[in-house]
Amino acid sequence: MAIATVNPATGETLKTFEPHNAGEIEERLVRAERAFREHRLTGFAERSRLMHRAADLLEEDQDAAARMMTTEMGKPLAAARAEAAKCVKAMRWYAEHAEAQLADEHPAPSDVADSGAARAFVRYRPLGPVLAVMPWNFPLWQVVRFAAPALMAGNTGLLKHASNVPQTALYLEELFRRAGFPEGVFQTLLVGSDAIAGLLRDERIVAATLTGSEPAGRSVASIAGDEIKKTVLELGGSDPYLVLPSADLDKAVRTAVTARVQNAGQSCIAAKRFIVHTDVYDTFTARFVERMSALKVGDPTADDTDVGPLSSAQGRSDLEELVDDATRRGATAQCGGGRPLHLPDGWYYEPTVLTGVTEDMRIHREEAFGPVASVYRVDSLDEAVELANGTSFGLSSNAWTRDSAEQERLTRDLEAGGVFFNGMTASHPGLPFGGVKRSGYGRELAGHGIREFCNATTVWFG
Ligand code: NAP
Repeated sequence: MAIATVNPATGETLKTFEPHNAGEIEERLVRAERAFREHRLTGFAERSRLMHRAADLLEEDQDAAARMMTTEMGKPLAAARAEAAKCVKAMRWYAEHAEAQLADEHPAPSDVADSGAARAFVRYRPLGPVLAVMPWNFPLWQVVRFAAPALMAGNTGLLKHASNVPQTALYLEELFRRAGFPEGVFQTLLVGSDAIAGLLRDERIVAATLTGSEPAGRSVASIAGDEIKKTVLELGGSDPYLVLPSADLDKAVRTAVTARVQNAGQSCIAAKRFIVHTDVYDTFTARFVERMSALKVGDPTADDTDVGPLSSAQGRSDLEELVDDATRRGATAQCGGGRPLHLPDGWYYEPTVLTGVTEDMRIHREEAFGPVASVYRVDSLDEAVELANGTSFGLSSNAWTRDSAEQERLTRDLEAGGVFFNGMTASHPGLPFGGVKRSGYGRELAGHGIREFCNATTVWFG
């Protein structure tokens, strides 16, 4: 895949980039390792000062950064601005909380005595240069969510960003440099995915994190596993969205639309399978279809656009294949189901609601990475749980119910890294984020995230 900025709203190639050659990659690896030796010795106060500075700079750059993201991957400008603001918040959060999250841990005195120690504690030490393989869908956020904790912990980062967001990738390197982080603490590698195996096998890379698809995750994890290197994987999802009889139906419908079409549906934690109790199915579905049909699809730079183009021609044809397969096998598109005729250029797809989805359809098993919702009717909570869990994914889940017994049951039984009641899944700096099953492993954000790339060192005194 060429490393290039191609505007998804027009299909026009705006800028292409030469991949780094072997010598340029080597220079960056040398710098990353050298920088780690110094960076690990800096205190939290100094790292915090630099991270706050990076946050301030990004805040100043918010509009320009948003325009760059919109140009490279097509999200509406307002959403791009919100993404930049979210990054600022997370940087400040880690600047303020990293020290406490990585403070020495003191085991219970009885356990210390039982080990025969006069004194013992756990210290979180950084690991070294970490490779981050990142996707285009939230091109600033996915990277910041890794970089803010990793750099605050004293690690250094090497970013291999998706090939369609090179300008955002270079901007991020520049941002951390302008903030004053020493050369080599955070670098961008302009490389294709064919360079990743070599990087993972290089002894200077000590760990890796990947956010992206299952095949990419499998490849990175197997090579890293062969090298006995730690990985964190944030992969795909097909999150269920349960609507039960006690739901506030108005809110559930409005939120369902946002939860499905945010980022033109190209979000790992978007709600994708709407599992609705028969008592409220007809009302929910009618209102959901009405709202999905009313969305304005179009130019992502226009203020009144709800849904922009998909990020690539390939992404759109993958989605078209899923919908065509479903309708061929008997599903009904209650709205949408194709390309909007008034937008012949660019990679647009209409917000679509499918009913009558059955197990033999690909969309039942696979992730729909675009604005396409599958709505299922169920007769009971048991059936809802079975359907929700009947997937290889386990990223997050949503449930609309005001019944506390149902909430307890779903907290116990939904197989996912998150259970969000009466609202939609979103990531927040202070709450851990990640999945189970084929959605990956490990956690980002909160204390869990910053400790993933640390050596929890037992310090024991006889
Ligand atoms: P993708 O193809 O896996 O790309 C993601 C990154 O992996 C890119 O940098 C890509 O580089 C690289 N890559 C591709 N194939 C690779 C391979 N065989 N080995 C190593 N690296 C490889 O993902 P996508 O389809 O663009 O992104 C959407 C996917 O990401 C969806 O499944 C979505 O659910 C998932 N996602 C998950 C989360 C989460 O937090 N769990 C968040 C966002 C997205 P190139 O661009 O150079 O190919």
